[in-house]
Amino acid sequence: MALTAMDIYKQLPKTNCGDCGIPTCLAFAMKLAQGQASLDECPHVTEDAIAALEGSSAPPMKTVTIGTGDKALDIGGQTVLFRHEETFRNPCGIAIQVNTSLSEEEMRERITTACNTEFDRVGMIFDLDLIALNDDDGSLPQAAQIATEVSTLPLMLMSDDPESMRGALEVCSEGRPLIYAAGADNFDEMTALAKEFSCPLAIRSQNLDELYELSEKAGEAGLEDLVLDSGARELNAVLQNQTIVERAAINEKIKPMGFPTIGFVVGNNEVEKIISASELIAKYAGIVVTDLLTREALLAMVTARLNIYTDPQKPIQVESGVYEIGEPDATSPVLITTNFSLTYYTVEADTSAGNIDAWVVVVDTDGTSVLTAWAAEDFTPEIIAKTIKECGIEEKVEHRIGVLPGGVAVLSGDLEQESGWNIVVGPRESSAIPTFFKTEYEQRIAGF
Ligand code: SF4
Repeated sequence: MALTAMDIYKQLPKTNCGDCGIPTCLAFAMKLAQGQASLDECPHVTEDAIAALEGSSAPPMKTVTIGTGDKALDIGGQTVLFRHEETFRNPCGIAIQVNTSLSEEEMRERITTACNTEFDRVGMIFDLDLIALNDDDGSLPQAAQIATEVSTLPLMLMSDDPESMRGALEVCSEGRPLIYAAGADNFDEMTALAKEFSCPLAIRSQNLDELYELSEKAGEAGLEDLVLDSGARELNAVLQNQTIVERAAINEKIKPMGFPTIGFVVGNNEVEKIISASELIAKYAGIVVTDLLTREALLAMVTARLNIYTDPQKPIQVESGVYEIGEPDATSPVLITTNFSLTYYTVEADTSAGNIDAWVVVVDTDGTSVLTAWAAEDFTPEIIAKTIKECGIEEKVEHRIGVLPGGVAVLSGDLEQESGWNIVVGPRESSAIPTFFKTEYEQRIAGF
């Protein structure tokens, strides 16, 4: 049973020294009980207290690593049920299913496509995470051999047959694949394989009570890296089971349920499958397994994942500085904007779409948009002028004309005074940039 904040408080020094970054021991105990702090953040805690609090200081959900090296995938490690409470850790992995009954050529092609798939979204590169080899014809060992030759991604081995699993593990266990899955029928054999080859193991049962019991048994057998599959495949059952398991882990701190989950995309067509994948991504899956491999379907999944796993306390931002669009030279226009990724990349896309070679001066506003930054006084004439002076744009252009977003036209006069630049008020909406440069810009700068 999880300890309460008061149980934890009794074990702390109660000096309220604040060295943990939290003003009082009671507040620290409350954070610890919620899984939002770690016991080692208190430098004064005694060995006896550490022993007594060991269970409660562990995160409520284990982080499980699949694979090795740069492409290793960490899943789980969540501490909250809702993103706004803190943030979600370890974005869920997207696994591409590859059936072993494919011809060798088809298999190689599918694995290569999955490994080479990546997307550039607001300046961040996203790729896929796992190759899930599905043993649909008993040839998992041969498929594992092919995958180890071709794949740059970690593997997930899907078979209920312990002999087939053993054959595959003998080929690829060094890459620390996920073994999928141990159920009631093959539990002893699969747990023995997971121990022998030191690989993470998925536990599967359609009955949540049985899932709990199997997970507890696996823990007693010494396995620490588990992934849970509730067996649900219908949308409503997925939602229900994923929620029950996650609540049991995070809210109730029930240890056998404190592991990341895996879910399988279902549907009769691509749209249904994307909906199913999005549900799993939104509702706590540590891994989503899909047979979809078209760019448009994967882009939808990657975007859903980006939305769920973006830290709400840290807006996505680009670095402050000077950026080039096209091939700007010393006479090219200079646009001024903030470092909110969506703002910058919208400006970048619209300027590129208008075939305009330009410089963009990006001001550090803590990742907020133009109007938000202005309202928060992070996009003031002083701050913008300082960026202009320090970012190096004055060495790149021979003119001193900047284009300010139309939404903050009110800043133009003071910015001219602060920076010594001539300021042209641009359009309010980024989408109007091409028209602005086509029809207005030259006239507006004629007098400078
Ligand atoms: S560092 Fe330890 S003793 Fe000091 S306030 Fe935090 S919990 Fe209390």
